[in-house]
Amino acid sequence: METTLLSCPSCGKTNRVPAQASGHPRCGNCKADLPWIVAAGDNDFAAVAEQSAVPVLVDFWAAWCGPCRMVSPVLDKLARECPGKIKLVKVDVDKSPGLSRRFDVQAIPTLMVLIDGKVAARQAGAAPAEVLRSWLDKALAGARS
Ligand SMILES: [Zn+2]
Repeated sequence: METTLLSCPSCGKTNRVPAQASGHPRCGNCKADLPWIVAAGDNDFAAVAEQSAVPVLVDFWAAWCGPCRMVSPVLDKLARECPGKIKLVKVDVDKSPGLSRRFDVQAIPTLMVLIDGKVAARQAGAAPAEVLRSWLDKALAGARS
């Protein structure tokens, strides 16, 4: 299973965060909720994203895509701001032709919010940080109502 090393925002301890887990990751030292930022592809998207217990923000990106490089740090920041509430899953379209086809990704970055495995919101193309933030808030609010 793939893991990511992440330092705890509360105590600074480095944690090994799995790509998949029931629930969401917590710090092994202080038990604080940890941000969850992972990668997925054609083979593990179902397990990593669609079966996630917390809402998933999917980022379809590519290494050669300039706008993706602008959006990516914004998404990282949003994920770090709401640990335990969102899981950021990055999909490299060049390595995931199956997912690109299945979700009909025409432009990158394409962002999706998945709640209980279903697409709750979708956004194509780059947007300013405040637009992405309110788009995400709205999608997550829809999930709660
Ligand atoms: Zn901690």
